[in-house]
Amino acid sequence: MDDLEFKFEVEIIQSEERKRIDKEVKKHLAAAGLVDPSGKLKIKGVSPKMLKRMKQEHVECPVMDRNVQFLQCFVCANFQSRVNGRVLCKGDPL
Ligand code: SF4
Repeated sequence: MDDLEFKFEVEIIQSEERKRIDKEVKKHLAAAGLVDPSGKLKIKGVSPKMLKRMKQEHVECPVMDRNVQFLQCFVCANFQSRVNGRVLCKGDPL
């Protein structure tokens, strides 16, 4: 077993519509080095097809108590890992 500490296992929900990444989230993604100079999202080891899918995913965040795009969740300080369609979330107050 690994020793990741997490409080919540949050299900990742796939939706039909592809939401725009909001500006705030894009800033965080850029700060994490996940946006290329042309402004396109680029995550090492993640194929364009997978990225497209990720843009359609969201989670019901138990900490903020609202719907959050998966990409926002991915750059959240509480994000630990993605395992079998679930996010392992530290659950600390944000
Ligand atoms: S990692 Fe962040 S955004 Fe994702 S479920 Fe946890 S608190 Fe919410």
